[in-house]
Amino acid sequence: MIKVSEIEVKNLISKSKIPSIDFAINPYVGCPHKCIYCYAEFMGKFHKEKWGNFLDVKICTKAINIEKFKNNTVFLSSVTDAYNPFEAKYGITKQVLEQFIASQVKVEILTKSNLVTRDVKILKQIPNISVGFSINTTDDVVRKQIEPYASSVQKRIDALKILHNEGINTWVFISPIFPKITDFKNIVDICRTYAYSFGFENLNLKNSYHMRVLNYIRIHHQNLLPLYQEIYVRNNKDYWQQTACEIHSYCQEIGIDYSIHFH
Ligand code: SF4
Repeated sequence: MIKVSEIEVKNLISKSKIPSIDFAINPYVGCPHKCIYCYAEFMGKFHKEKWGNFLDVKICTKAINIEKFKNNTVFLSSVTDAYNPFEAKYGITKQVLEQFIASQVKVEILTKSNLVTRDVKILKQIPNISVGFSINTTDDVVRKQIEPYASSVQKRIDALKILHNEGINTWVFISPIFPKITDFKNIVDICRTYAYSFGFENLNLKNSYHMRVLNYIRIHHQNLLPLYQEIYVRNNKDYWQQTACEIHSYCQEIGIDYSIHFH
């Protein structure tokens, strides 16, 4: 059960700490997708409900001063999914995007939801837009275990195709890469016709989700537990060094645009 509250805010845009991103818009506080590795859980520190069990819908009556963000990169979203299921009802992301129509702001969206296709007409009117889909498995059984309330893998791939066919810049973020679970080549092969670039990010287990993810591995992929302990308990970097080499080699071999964001 998710507790949903509407909260009034004066401003939706904040300065971003992510390299290459100037500003972020998070239309919601909280995220019902409940990914087991969620890096944004710290945002729940002022809520008594557990992360994933609450959602604050940000109501902002003040228009965005678009001119101020001209030529900057604005990212949706850094600590929620702007297309979480409640966006279908509240439309906060849609209202935000409408303000960027015909602007000179570079708008970047990253989502795990096919709901983004609802806004295709708006997206097409934003001159400098790109839409990325996070995909880290093609196995929907695994997806349900680690990203239980996000769109299925097939729905994300279908949405990627729809946006690509509508002429929107689309990319795929293979993140987080779960050692020996994420088959990055398979994802690239399935998506490359519809994506102009790929990003790669490794699974980072620094925070409260460290034990949660290791428990998941213990229960569902017991044979991989020694490897995960080597990486995340003994801090052995060999696996990631080798994976980065494999990514470089594969992407160069098939000639795709890519970037690696390993921690
Ligand atoms: S979609 Fe992103 S913000 Fe939402 S639960 Fe998953 S990792 Fe966290």
